[in-house]
Amino acid sequence: MADSLFIVMVGAPGAGKGTQADLISARLGLPKIASGDLFRDNLQRQTELGQLAKAYMDRGELVPDGVTVRMVAERLSRPDCTQGAVLDGFPRNIAQAQALEAILQERGEAVRLVPYIRVSEAELLDRLSGRWMCRAAQHAYHERHNPPKVPGVCDLDGSPLYQRDDDRPETVRRRIQVYLEQTAPLLDYYRQRGLLVEINGEQPIEKVYSEIVGYLAGYRHDLSEVAGRTRADA
Ligand code: ADP
Ligand code: ADP
Repeated sequence: MADSLFIVMVGAPGAGKGTQADLISARLGLPKIASGDLFRDNLQRQTELGQLAKAYMDRGELVPDGVTVRMVAERLSRPDCTQGAVLDGFPRNIAQAQALEAILQERGEAVRLVPYIRVSEAELLDRLSGRWMCRAAQHAYHERHNPPKVPGVCDLDGSPLYQRDDDRPETVRRRIQVYLEQTAPLLDYYRQRGLLVEINGEQPIEKVYSEIVGYLAGYRHDLSEVAGRTRADA
């Protein structure tokens, strides 16, 4: 428990959770676990889980809790998660948050920090309509805010970029509605537990990142110097 660091990113679809989770995961040397990526990976491999999830994802609805929790629990049980993980897109409702708490409790661990990336609805629509993801590892780009160096190619792994089917405006509107109804209650859930830190997501990617690192420095001493420097730069 003492040294493990489980972080849960929350925010609406398009807020920048995946972008920040990638940066934090690389900085801390912890795996990023993104439930949406796990579903898309299953879809690509045409597994039964992938087929089932597709029907919900296409409509912008949540995949049922039972299969979602089993999938994430299996991922968390792998050896690379003994020191912690950066969770992105899970939990997405109170039932999933309670399931996560139970899974971690069994290992004598707990969620330590919940960065909430706050972004207005207009900005979410703009971010999702211009989002491009890489095939190999789901790294996110934006055609205007965060373009790749070579159009259509991931800077990090060279794989081709694509636009997600569920980033179409009709589906995006439903995903935001589902977020407000089912996921937003998590904010109070984690606030009451003293874990929530609110971050203004309408700032450049590096600024959002440095604010999150500032909070993480309380848990990892090797980050204090970085946090001090980024605060001084601000
Ligand atoms: P989420 O995982 O919350 O759905 P992403 O990390 O995929 O969000 O980001 C959504 C889109 O917004 C991507 O195109 C990404 O490049 C872009 N983006 C992320 N953070 C910022 C930011 N701070 N400012 C502008 N665009 C951003
Ligand atoms: P975004 O990054 O834009 O928020 P995700 O990749 O996290 O989107 O999720 C895409 C879709 O995958 C969701 O609309 C939903 O259908 C499904 N999904 C992802 N995570 C979960 C979850 N924790 N519970 C239920 N469904 C999920």
